[in-house]
Amino acid sequence: MHSYGQSGFDVVALGVNGGISDGNLTAFFISPKGDDRGVMCDAGTLVNGVSVALQQDSFNSIIAPSSGQQASIGTIIKSHIKGYLISHSHLDHVAGLVIASVDDSKKPIYAFPSVIADLQDNYFNWRAWPNFADSGVEPTLKKYTYRALEEGKSLPLTNTSMQVTPFPLSHGGRLSTAFLIEHDNSALLCMGDTGADSIEKSDHLATLWQALAQRLEGKKLTGIIIESSYTNARPDNLLFGHLTPRLVIQSLQDFARINNKGQSLQGVKVLISHIKYSLDTGFSNKKVIKEQLNSANTLGVEFVIPTQGDYISFD
Ligand SMILES: [Zn+2]
Ligand SMILES: [Zn+2]
Repeated sequence: MHSYGQSGFDVVALGVNGGISDGNLTAFFISPKGDDRGVMCDAGTLVNGVSVALQQDSFNSIIAPSSGQQASIGTIIKSHIKGYLISHSHLDHVAGLVIASVDDSKKPIYAFPSVIADLQDNYFNWRAWPNFADSGVEPTLKKYTYRALEEGKSLPLTNTSMQVTPFPLSHGGRLSTAFLIEHDNSALLCMGDTGADSIEKSDHLATLWQALAQRLEGKKLTGIIIESSYTNARPDNLLFGHLTPRLVIQSLQDFARINNKGQSLQGVKVLISHIKYSLDTGFSNKKVIKEQLNSANTLGVEFVIPTQGDYISFD
């Protein structure tokens, strides 16, 4: 059962860290409000994340009891995740998908062609793992259909009421992806790993903000999922294609400046992902990153740093 007409998105954080902790890597379940058919934005962790989220009842407001379906790890993964948006092929963004593929249902994987080539050549190749996809090393098991994305071109997300428009990001010289997900008049931007334009010697973020400012006229941007891997203490030459609170704020200010014709960013939810977990210190820098973001928050955005399994409402 799906009820329509609500605006905004439900998000469940299935994995929030940017490395090291294998059961808690970048992965966000995203569905339109009132509709239990969602997609994953990256899938570094899958089964572990769904398990933690279920223990916290985080899918309760997404899967209505009237649907007659008991929410379980299997039903979430097979019936409610209708596809995967993969920003880039680093392990911390795909490991959960690859490992769970044996028991998954048929669905599309959406990515830029070079990311699809990486998945095909490095994971689903009968050496690292059986080829569950529909191209590459034969025999192809055809569980996953690769859907090649084109920069700035919108595509409906099959079996959902959402559409996606991808934009390139520069991640230590490698291609990563920002996904603009839309449903009715609501939009949510889910960004993969990215460095800052000035450090990456790139204009991808500037181009993204420009494109969004145009596309979003008359639509409501409910939130942005963006990484801040390190604290401000990390020197620029050791960022390896990632952001810090200072660089996140700078980027959002760039967007606000370009977007001055549209809505302000006041009150927009900015979910911080991909904080690097350290075995040396035994903790992530979550607290420091939150303080650094909030103390420089001149835009009035609402920073959210989720814990694995959290439900976050974007409206
Ligand atoms: Zn990563
Ligand atoms: Zn990466």
